[in-house]
Amino acid sequence: RDMTGVNRVVTAISGGDDWLIVTHERPDGDAIGSSLAVAHILRSLGKKFTFMVSEPLPHRFSYLPMFDTAEMIASPVVRTYKRVIAVDCADEARFAPVAACIDEFAEIVNIDHHQTNPRYGAAAWVDPAAAATCELIYHVARGLDVPLETGLAMCLYTGILTDTGGFAYPSTTRDIHQIAAELLACGVQPYEIAEPAMQSRSWEQVHLMQMALANLAVSNDGSYAALYVTRGMIDGAGATDDDAEGLVEFARSIDTVEVGMLFRETVDGKVKVSLRSKRRVDVSRIAQTFGGGGHARAAGCTLAADLDTAMTTVVEQVEQALAEV
Ligand code: 5GP
Ligand code: MN
Ligand code: MN
Repeated sequence: RDMTGVNRVVTAISGGDDWLIVTHERPDGDAIGSSLAVAHILRSLGKKFTFMVSEPLPHRFSYLPMFDTAEMIASPVVRTYKRVIAVDCADEARFAPVAACIDEFAEIVNIDHHQTNPRYGAAAWVDPAAAATCELIYHVARGLDVPLETGLAMCLYTGILTDTGGFAYPSTTRDIHQIAAELLACGVQPYEIAEPAMQSRSWEQVHLMQMALANLAVSNDGSYAALYVTRGMIDGAGATDDDAEGLVEFARSIDTVEVGMLFRETVDGKVKVSLRSKRRVDVSRIAQTFGGGGHARAAGCTLAADLDTAMTTVVEQVEQALAEV
């Protein structure tokens, strides 16, 4: 592990005060876990912070202490910040919805684990070998000598659990299990996190799942599969965009499939694409050709196109990638 990276970040954080915490839009467990873990760390250091978001956080993470400290961005913004900690953000566009409250000369601390991260910011620590940004935040807490009280440990565990798919994805290492064991020693109760964060679903979400599974299709050779979610389906199910999270797993889970895809119409008439692979295809490269990014086995992008065009265009790239490996 690159410990000069953690030192850069530790020095930057201890040298400044009045921090803005930001993460990526449509935040997942690692994004929220990392943000709230940083909030715990800053509070523990006696520093001022604001965790700014552009949409309400998914309710399933409401067991996290300090969940309610997330502040909705005002329009126009009340003030701007000169010091920013960005967590789990592969690039600066990922926190664009809260960019209006960032000073143009702000010092940005970039803590992330996406291989496509261009290492933006004044102090960056990007480690693609990390299973979750929360794994890096654990080392930041250690580096700052912040005690791992239960609340902080719960935030870190949430990001680690969700980003490893419950300690199952190839990113799962001995190190991450050791960190998890330590978090349990700090009072984390695994089921109290796994149940709300990973297992529980609203009826609306399951209803949306029923509709999406009806259109799940697999290629003739079985190597890729896709499903889609339209605005009509989301509205019809009474679901939210976040309820489509995880549907791509159904495509990926088919035994013959290497690449799974989910296409979701967005409110502003674009198409959000989620890409997953098992062993061979680097889906982050496919996502990058459309201006997105991510990890080798999980990546995403957004296309300014209608659903049919987006599907045809992305499938073409996936077929090409499959032919090359
Ligand atoms: P998901 O498909 O669940 O939205 O995202 C899968 C992975 O790709 C996540 O690690 C996420 O951060 C990353 N990702 C998703 N969409 C984008 C995007 O538009 N740009 C970049 N750089 N990364 C993305
Ligand atoms: Mn994330
Ligand atoms: Mn992550």
